[in-house]
Amino acid sequence: MTVAPGDAPGADPPIQGRLRGLPSVDRLLQADAVRILMASHPRSVVVEVIQDALRTLRARLLSHDEPVPAMVDDRIIQAALDTMRERSRPSLRRVVNATGVVIHTNLGRAPLCPEAVQALTASAGSYLSLEMDMESGRRGRRAGGLLDLVCELTGAEAACLVNNNAAAVLLVLDALARGREVVVSRSELIEIGGSFRLPDVLGRSGARLVEVGTTNRTYVTDYEAAVGDQTALLLKSHPSNYRIVGYTHEVTAGDLADLGRRMAVPTFMDLGSGVLVDLRRWGLPAEPTVGDCVASGLDLVSFSGDKLLGGPQVGVIVGRRDLVARCAASPLWRALRCDRLTLVALEATLATYRDPRRLPEVLPVLGMLTRPEGLLEVEAKALAASIREAMGAKAAVSCDRGTSVTGGGALPACEIPTWLVRIGLPSSFLAEGAAWLRAWDPPVVVRTGDDHLLLDVRTLLPGDAPVVVQACHGLAGRLG
Ligand SMILES: *Cc1c(COP(=O)(O)O)cnc(C)c1O
Repeated sequence: MTVAPGDAPGADPPIQGRLRGLPSVDRLLQADAVRILMASHPRSVVVEVIQDALRTLRARLLSHDEPVPAMVDDRIIQAALDTMRERSRPSLRRVVNATGVVIHTNLGRAPLCPEAVQALTASAGSYLSLEMDMESGRRGRRAGGLLDLVCELTGAEAACLVNNNAAAVLLVLDALARGREVVVSRSELIEIGGSFRLPDVLGRSGARLVEVGTTNRTYVTDYEAAVGDQTALLLKSHPSNYRIVGYTHEVTAGDLADLGRRMAVPTFMDLGSGVLVDLRRWGLPAEPTVGDCVASGLDLVSFSGDKLLGGPQVGVIVGRRDLVARCAASPLWRALRCDRLTLVALEATLATYRDPRRLPEVLPVLGMLTRPEGLLEVEAKALAASIREAMGAKAAVSCDRGTSVTGGGALPACEIPTWLVRIGLPSSFLAEGAAWLRAWDPPVVVRTGDDHLLLDVRTLLPGDAPVVVQACHGLAGRLG
């Protein structure tokens, strides 16, 4: 280290000189905490992290022109320990969802039910009766019992499983319509978030799109006029995330199915979210169930497993035995088939549908969607009181009515009354405050609006509230 010219001896040493108070890497490596760390991590990694912490502190002291702080060894070691903890944390981890978006695609959609979690725990670490007939010891149907259960719950003749509903649509189009025409209403050429665009999937499958009707009105006669010797399929899709209102006319599933039978052309509905029971029994909006679609005579129906159904990410195709068999025989099916963990979780989830009365207690998604407003009010007020206590005078915490949304392209345009905890922050700090909560461990994800952090209690799971309170306590400290 050099001493700059002009520094008088005896005066406060110049900053470069004062940095001599920093410990050496060797000295830090002798500390007990660091030696413990080295017992469970490679020495090279620990050395690197210590060097980084030392470099960071030196740079800060230089740029702020500050003296070496007291207990400097402890501070550097603590910073290194924090980095090590950060590094060894998985990137995929539990998150507290305080957004009120029940099926949040960026947060993994449906949390699994305890039955599914148990089934995963019991079988994930062992071999599985996946594709062997246990009686004969020979190769059997992959997840045959699960396919039977899907048929039992939907009234369909046959079923086929793939990675997600996008894959299901692609597979149906490829297996039944490659090189031929698919007739779709102009009002149903959908785009779902995350780059699922029906016309693009159609194009990729090698099928040709034939648009009929207009944006707002399509009739059976429109489909009928479009059918020719190149027609492979009549397709309907669920308007998952939009509504066409006003002067409209839509061809029902039943009418399309009738037309298909009359003209000997298979019919297929991309239903989006798979609903297996009538949601109106719990006061939710009417949604066609998979069973309704099958019963209306459509030949094939496809849907997602991780939207309203409340299971793992999966795409299900159900319907006519011969058509499902063509899908399952396609080489594409082999590429799109689901892994065994998905199958195990799906079977356990579907088994809960055998007693629909208990579903809101058993399935987190249905439980959250059907939580009574009065209960949400009580929970929001209790949470607001705890947060108020945790944040002291640092922020104004209140409680108010608001709306939750289902998300995931399910129950479109349906806003559900809820209760929100509102934390007032200076507008310049709002985004930073929300980011700070996301940096908590586990991350807490909230909404923001009109100078408030908004926490919707609807999507909090058991054990989440105390985490939220601790994170808010931390945030109050940050507010200084
Ligand atoms: C959600 C949705 C899809 C995509 O399903 P994934 O399971 O996300 O692949 C396709 N079509 C409709 C109508 C949807 O709502």
